Amino acid sequence: MTAVPRGFLSLSARVVVNAEAMNMVEAIGNVVRHRKATLVYRLGEKYEIRTVPVISGEALRHAIQAALAEIAGRMGLPVCEWCRRGEFVKHGVRLDEFFKDVKGAGSVDAFKKKADESIYEAERLVVESCVVEDVGGFLVPTGTPVKRTSVLEAGYMVPAVEGGRVMYGFDVQFHVRHAPGAQRIVDKQKQRREEQAQSVYNVESSSAIYAMSLNVELWRIGTYYAERDGRLELHALDDRDKRVRAALLALAAVLNGDVRVGGHWSSYRPLWQLESAVAVFSSPMPISAAPAVDEGYLGETVELARAKAGIYRSALGEGAVSYRVLVLKGPRKLDAEPGKDVEVVDSAPDFMKRLVELGLEYAGAK
Ligand SMILES: [Zn+2]
Repeated sequence: MTAVPRGFLSLSARVVVNAEAMNMVEAIGNVVRHRKATLVYRLGEKYEIRTVPVISGEALRHAIQAALAEIAGRMGLPVCEWCRRGEFVKHGVRLDEFFKDVKGAGSVDAFKKKADESIYEAERLVVESCVVEDVGGFLVPTGTPVKRTSVLEAGYMVPAVEGGRVMYGFDVQFHVRHAPGAQRIVDKQKQRREEQAQSVYNVESSSAIYAMSLNVELWRIGTYYAERDGRLELHALDDRDKRVRAALLALAAVLNGDVRVGGHWSSYRPLWQLESAVAVFSSPMPISAAPAVDEGYLGETVELARAKAGIYRSALGEGAVSYRVLVLKGPRKLDAEPGKDVEVVDSAPDFMKRLVELGLEYAGAK
């Protein structure tokens, strides 16, 4: 049994991303298209529907997990072979190949046997063997399915509102692979039409102020349930503190644009700038940061956190609820009364530093 405090982290941020092609969908002819979604925006006095460029939560989650695999591996934490490669199969394929890293169950059959005995014990075996499965969750479709719901939630990155306008733009960029000498050889040998040395392609690129939204159930990182006398007890892994630190560092790396989100970075490396951010740390209830889509999201988050904490305190007792709001103000205004519950920092590196420190504190880790 362990006494892990029920800490949560909710993060909203704005990033200015210029000339990006991070998240593409199917091509039409020789045009590669950007992912789009239809959103409802509050503009002025009314709501409007807009179809806008977006980056999927899957793309963002993949980036966080890739950063986590890298950081955790370097910290000497367990990371399975497939996560090290950035291929997050997570034992979802029932071949021995994907179970040999699972200590105590090196084959599918051995794992199935464990799962039949106890799904909690089977979950622990996977979580203990890899930090990515611990934080990012997994699903093994064995007879008795064994799964871990992701500790991390990543929302779609969507354009934010600024000055009453949705801030995004699209262009289709024309590109050509110029290879006249090589094309002559192809033509001479009368190769099939699809074998072209020269090629023309178009990429739909976008620029936007993207709003980002991430939630982390801090208390679940490095913890697992075990059945004792018919009851479920929460336990912590020995390396839990390091796991929490690795997860927080991975979030910070993605927020800063230090790791690839999506694809096309070889020639469309986005000009990525973290503009502003707010993180809410809370215990024992999750308190969500306001979406960074709206211009006043920093102040709105502070006011909402205060109001929600007040409601929880009225039910659970004054000392039973704690929260802290960390703000990277950037060029924005913070429309909220100052208080001991709010910490404002001026620079992105300071925000990262405090994000990790407060994250460790609310996770009950050192
Ligand atoms: Zn793994």
